[in-house]
Amino acid sequence: QPILEVKNMTKYFPVAKNKELKAVDNVSFSIQKGETFGLVGESGCGKSTTGRTIIGLYQKTSGEVLYKGKDVHKLSEKEKFTFQRNMQMIFQDPYASLNPRSTVREIISEPMEVHGLYSNKKERLERVYELLEDVGLNRDHANRYPHEFSGGQRQRIGIARALALNPECIIADEPISALDVSVQAQVVNLLKKLQEEKGLTYLFIAHDLSMVKHISNRIGVMYLGHLVELTTSNSLYNKPLHPYTKALLSAIPIPDPDIEDARERIVLQGELPSPIDPPSGCVFRTRCQFAMDACANMKPEWQEVGENHFVACHLYNEGIVDLTSEIAASK
Ligand code: SF4
Ligand code: MG
Repeated sequence: QPILEVKNMTKYFPVAKNKELKAVDNVSFSIQKGETFGLVGESGCGKSTTGRTIIGLYQKTSGEVLYKGKDVHKLSEKEKFTFQRNMQMIFQDPYASLNPRSTVREIISEPMEVHGLYSNKKERLERVYELLEDVGLNRDHANRYPHEFSGGQRQRIGIARALALNPECIIADEPISALDVSVQAQVVNLLKKLQEEKGLTYLFIAHDLSMVKHISNRIGVMYLGHLVELTTSNSLYNKPLHPYTKALLSAIPIPDPDIEDARERIVLQGELPSPIDPPSGCVFRTRCQFAMDACANMKPEWQEVGENHFVACHLYNEGIVDLTSEIAASK
């Protein structure tokens, strides 16, 4: 049984004039215990909203989020408390998410106080020291303030705070995007190390595919509120199917000059459409070089096209491709 299951989850935000912003539309995926599931897509595609709705910061519009088989939006107060303990979040901007007037010790002990863990002050302080060491900082840092640290160190503090309650699962919302490239790998390695030591499960949200590859077992690609492809990290990199995934991958610089030309650079045409008024049919069609008639009229179905490889694109629905070419030929 997966630790987390998201079933047809939809999150719409009401906006002016009886309109809705369709941030997340009918998204389904599940995460196994100990796994890292990467969720990628351009900013505004709904990946942060997905994370926030899962953890309960937003109420879902429809669908289900199951944690160990239980609907997290229907928990009793007591169950909610346990769920919050088991499921923590790390944010993109470590500075904004740390109270500037609190010391590192206060920041890391706060969740323990709220949840009544380590009620004795001395025990709590020991726990803070332990956590600081877990994330590569030390006890001398406990009485300092967030502004005294570099971006990478602040993110380590954010991670220590997320670990304070011994969670099972962490939603990391672009935890490295605000960091220098040189620091990004260090934070990714730290997250990997912590995962091994503590058996953590991660939902790792990112806007590009370069770092996610190194940490994720499986990756889901989102576009305009929709999941468009989902497979193992390896097959996503070696055998991407959806035209959008191909475009995202082609944007990653390949360090080996010998294979530089092996991957065609695909530049996405046009603007990202508004999630208030998404295109009919396939949401990607306004920027897709393969768009056919069917793409404007029918939503592509989410289908399994290979072992553990799911995609929503008419190109992989032979019936529709044949029909479209017949129509084109008869014109
Ligand atoms: Fe492109 Fe059509 Fe596939 Fe959408 S369904 S990605 S428009 S080919
Ligand atoms: Mg975001």
